[in-house]
Amino acid sequence: MSDVLAVTEHRRGELRDVSYEVITAGRELADATGGDLHLAVISGDTERFAEDLDREGVDYIHTVSDGEEFNHDVYVQAIEALHAELDPEVVVMPNSVNGLDYAPAVANRLDLPLATDAVGMEYDGGLTVTREMYGSKVETAVEVGGDQQAVTVRGAEWPAAEGVGDAEISAFDVDIDTDAGSTVTGFEEVGGGDVDISEADFIVSIGRGIEEEENLDLIRDLVEATDATLASSRPIVDNGWLPKNRQVGQSGKVVTPTVYLAIGISGAVQHVAGMKGADNIIAVNTDPNAPIFDIADYGIVGDLFEVVPELIEQFS
Ligand SMILES: Cc1cc2nc3c(=O)[nH]c(=O)nc-3n(C[C@H](O)[C@H](O)[C@H](O)COP(=O)(O)OP(=O)(O)OC[C@H]3O[C@@H](n4cnc5c(N)ncnc54)[C@H](O)[C@@H]3O)c2cc1C
Repeated sequence: MSDVLAVTEHRRGELRDVSYEVITAGRELADATGGDLHLAVISGDTERFAEDLDREGVDYIHTVSDGEEFNHDVYVQAIEALHAELDPEVVVMPNSVNGLDYAPAVANRLDLPLATDAVGMEYDGGLTVTREMYGSKVETAVEVGGDQQAVTVRGAEWPAAEGVGDAEISAFDVDIDTDAGSTVTGFEEVGGGDVDISEADFIVSIGRGIEEEENLDLIRDLVEATDATLASSRPIVDNGWLPKNRQVGQSGKVVTPTVYLAIGISGAVQHVAGMKGADNIIAVNTDPNAPIFDIADYGIVGDLFEVVPELIEQFS
């Protein structure tokens, strides 16, 4: 009993970034426990997903074909059955909307201690998980206890697994009880259309520095000129100027673009929690002491109402 089981995630036919991140987190853990890394691929185009997920460090991939999209009952029952078969030391799940739906149920049914929102994990005979508290101001080390554990890991905290692996891929048969309670009848996006900022490569993100809703048109012009995706800090969403699915941060989405252009955003810890994984952070702010400059790769100390029109002109 030293193996690790990591559960992957997909949505509307595409694997989510966190699927590659749980491989890295799971591999690190399996190296420490001295066991194998097993991946669970549940529902959707499992064959295609399994091929894509066969990255360096994965030993076994188990596919469970049942339905297309996420279904609570299918995930819970599939993981429960895999757990019974593999007897892993730790189950690693994404700390995503889906993960937080099924992970507590899995832990409850398997009577496992559950540590959520892990930003670090260490194993030394027992599992210790690093979690953030008080709006990411302090980190705590939590000794999870028990012989077997369940953990959800925060997105963008571990790098995505790369390389080509030679995992053994096999279909895992589970007798899913379809009368368990929930049925997926369709898929509807919440307001804001099909945009998923967590998948965007170039994000223009706007904060309270924009002052008025009407001024958002200026930012939309920049988004168009740069072919970027529009996102924001929380006050913009709280004001109802942009839909919730555009919010970056602790209570919004975690994004990992190549470029994150933060305009009129101060860089509060709750915002930074959602974008610190960006490859290149560029900040525009009138205040040279704004905390966003502490993490920015490039900074422009200036008035966005002067800088943004200039950027639009340069990119048009
Ligand atoms: C439990 C909890 C969860 C939270 N979750 C989130 C979250 O998910 N996401 C999030 O973003 N926040 C979140 N917050 C809120 C967070 O603490 C901050 O209040 C918020 O991020 C601030 O947004 P902001 O940077 O746009 O605004 P402000 O902090 O007001 O910053 C505005 C910035 O614009 C600059 N500025 C002003 N005028 C101009 C100009 N003309 N040109 C250029 N710069 C200008 C200012 O110098 C300032 O730095 C959360 C808070 C709590 C308590």
